[in-house]
Amino acid sequence: MIVDLRSDTVTKPTPNMLDAMMAAKVGDDVFEEDETVLQLEKKAAALFGKESGLFCPSGTMANQIAIKCHVQPADEVICDISAHVYNYEGGGIAFHSGASVRLIYGDRGVFTAQDVLNYIQPDNIHYPVSKLVCIENTCNRGGGRCWELQEMQQIKDVCDKHQLKLHLDGARIFNAIIHKGYSAKEVGSLFDTISICLSKGLGAPVGSVILGDKETIKTAKRYRKLFGGGMRQAGYLAAAGIYALDNHIERLKEDHIRAKRLEESLNKMNYVAEVFPAETNIVVFRLKPEMNVNDFLQKLAEKNIKAVGFGPQAVRFATHLDVNDSMIDYVTEVLKKLA
Ligand SMILES: *Cc1c(COP(=O)(O)O)cnc(C)c1O
Repeated sequence: MIVDLRSDTVTKPTPNMLDAMMAAKVGDDVFEEDETVLQLEKKAAALFGKESGLFCPSGTMANQIAIKCHVQPADEVICDISAHVYNYEGGGIAFHSGASVRLIYGDRGVFTAQDVLNYIQPDNIHYPVSKLVCIENTCNRGGGRCWELQEMQQIKDVCDKHQLKLHLDGARIFNAIIHKGYSAKEVGSLFDTISICLSKGLGAPVGSVILGDKETIKTAKRYRKLFGGGMRQAGYLAAAGIYALDNHIERLKEDHIRAKRLEESLNKMNYVAEVFPAETNIVVFRLKPEMNVNDFLQKLAEKNIKAVGFGPQAVRFATHLDVNDSMIDYVTEVLKKLA
């Protein structure tokens, strides 16, 4: 048995998902003739109450296309210091959009409307023009922390007042929806664009969708081609996404319960300094100085448990479709033996 806690992207399609993929009706999507891709885009848009959707090969591409739809070179993007769009997308905001970034030092990825107000540039020729705010929900580096609906609403109000666009990096928005109990439509009503990942907790092999109004998605489609992301018979992949939206959202709560169990075990270990509260499917924890991160990961690897380092003295565990209860029992036993 191998327990792979490195990421919720490591899942393989289930037999039923594979059946759905094999049965997909496909066509050339660059000619807009792949009915399964069109169906996925329509379905995802309807779920969030948005006009249109655009299927993309990755979450990174989806975020970067959405950002490019909102900003021009020398504009400025406001986001949290922990944001994926800033840290893990290869400097894409500078590369693709030529924009600068103003970083908010939030609390595990969550910041306030007042923070945004503080960071909006004054109308003065010395400063870049503030154009876009990005929220990440759940926040990966924040240990899967969720935003409250009201916190997002307050950011939207500030954006409306100051003519800023608002983008949601919703790679794990379904985890937040399941944990907090707000609806996809409530979330959809707050943002100009949303990116959702099908290949994280939802368990599809590939794919993300950008959601927005018709005009923005038309522009996004142009950029997707420009970025080299126009796909042909992509319906085989889109079918996995449709299957995931139909079957794998509710079950995310199982991942959350398993992450909570890991959090509880970790909190009992004498070599653990701090565990971020595990709200969803991610557990981030810091080891005490006497436990070296690489040694810790090595000891787990020897017991067939895979995990990743997550900054100085920190480790991340992610639960997902391919982690079951007996695996959590096993990990708990191994953690105890390391004490
Ligand atoms: C995984 C992830 C993405 C997209 O990543 P890809 O690997 O490019 O699909 C975007 N934002 C967050 C918060 C993520 O965790």
